Amino acid sequence: MKTKILVSACLMGFKVRYNGQDKSLITEVLEHWQREHRLVIHCPELAAGLATPRLPAELVGGGGIAALQGEARILDSDGKDVSQTYLLAAWLALKTAQDSGCRLALMTDGSPTCGSKKIYNGAFQGITQSGMGVAAALLRHNGIEVYAEDELPALIARIEELET
Ligand code: SF4
Repeated sequence: MKTKILVSACLMGFKVRYNGQDKSLITEVLEHWQREHRLVIHCPELAAGLATPRLPAELVGGGGIAALQGEARILDSDGKDVSQTYLLAAWLALKTAQDSGCRLALMTDGSPTCGSKKIYNGAFQGITQSGMGVAAALLRHNGIEVYAEDELPALIARIEELET
């Protein structure tokens, strides 16, 4: 049985980011996995009803875990509290992963939703800090292993480990 992987849609070339752009990482291995029907391509923010383009948003007062616990908020660059929409995005990512049997995820780092190693610091000054976005945090809390795009070699190794 092939291990299934939830993948951020922007990594697969879909122009779904807040700025209307993608963050394409399409490589031979991703194309190969797609042909093997391993990939579940998903954009949590679009699934939650956000439009493209949209205002950028950042976590304020904590990271993804704190936001899931109601101890941090997600604000857009106009200062509007969009926490509920981003929390919905996180739950929809988890449901999509679980419904399709994904035990691994490859997600765009730096995003308040998909980030798994770093997020922006909430000051809208382009400064990152260690932390997770809300979807990555919720996926990990539920046992799904999340890899950032620069951890693709580790993800390849993990799949080989799981399938040998
Ligand atoms: S929510 Fe995730 S998949 Fe959607 S644009 Fe942001 S980083 Fe990409």
